[in-house]
Amino acid sequence: MGSAPLVEVTGDGLFCRAAGCHIDPWKPVERAIVTHAHADHATPGCGRYLASPTGKIVLARRVHAGAAIDAVGFGETIEMGDARLTLFPAGHILGSAQVRIEHAKTGETWVITGDYKTRPDPTCEAFEPVRCHTLLTESTFGLPIYRWDPDELVKAQINAWWRENSDEGRTSVVFAYALGKAQRVLGALEASIGPIGVHGAVLPLNEAYAEAGIALPETVHANKETAGELKGRGLIVAPPSAAGTPWLRRFAGPGGMSTAMVSGWMRVRGRRRWRPVDRGFVLSDHADWPGLLETVRESGAERVGVTHGSSRQLARYLSEQGLESFVVPTRYEGELGTEREEEQAGSEAEQ
Ligand SMILES: [Zn+2]
Repeated sequence: MGSAPLVEVTGDGLFCRAAGCHIDPWKPVERAIVTHAHADHATPGCGRYLASPTGKIVLARRVHAGAAIDAVGFGETIEMGDARLTLFPAGHILGSAQVRIEHAKTGETWVITGDYKTRPDPTCEAFEPVRCHTLLTESTFGLPIYRWDPDELVKAQINAWWRENSDEGRTSVVFAYALGKAQRVLGALEASIGPIGVHGAVLPLNEAYAEAGIALPETVHANKETAGELKGRGLIVAPPSAAGTPWLRRFAGPGGMSTAMVSGWMRVRGRRRWRPVDRGFVLSDHADWPGLLETVRESGAERVGVTHGSSRQLARYLSEQGLESFVVPTRYEGELGTEREEEQAGSEAEQ
């Protein structure tokens, strides 16, 4: 093993010198491996991108038009300079990938998880544990309080809430970030309850999922023309930024409307103050505390770098367990960083 680490943190984000490539760079760079298409991982303006095949479908809608995006299939190894690179499913959103980099000469291996969840999700490829010497794991929910209920339970809660609203002439509104969470919610809905509407920011991403062969229930674009159909009995999926807008108010039924947020942050009630909603459903696209620890264990890694969210706490815990661990800086810090996906999702305003 040489003196410089195989993957280093630079002013542009993670960089692998042996491969001559950045991973989820913070600024436009020559060559970028992109774990997934959320805005804090997919920077527009890079010379060339590399993603999984389904990741490419989503990424093409999120970075600049005409971007040069190469795809490499999950589990296929390609040579890049002095490195061998393989992508493995991260289970976070459609096409999300963990990046395994092996130095061709020394055999040293790193895995960068990107965002991931270990729970099965029918709208994306299932997470696979990957062995390595050094693991860089996310830790958005890296505290023991974060433990997710079974998905089936949360799905039943959402559908029961919708049915009850519909019975009383209330429109149901679910706030979910437009890429990934919105599709996961749609996939969980019982379409027999009523019509389903989506905000305009969700539409192009549903198209990407359809292109990748992910089946979602039939939806309408929630707008002036479909408001009559949705009022009082429909369910509308919209990014959090749509809360309180005139666009949303036009869908109120005779019984008004009921709003809900779907997020891992709903596990902590105090979190709800940042978005006044009637209900919180705990459904996350990130690993919970047991999922993070299981992933670290299954990697067999000797060294673990921790990034995003509760990184200091998880790194300290792992050190106490006898693992060499360290905090990897992120582009976003603090409160804003932890809610990054929810916040970035709805930049497209509807009128
Ligand atoms: Zn993400």
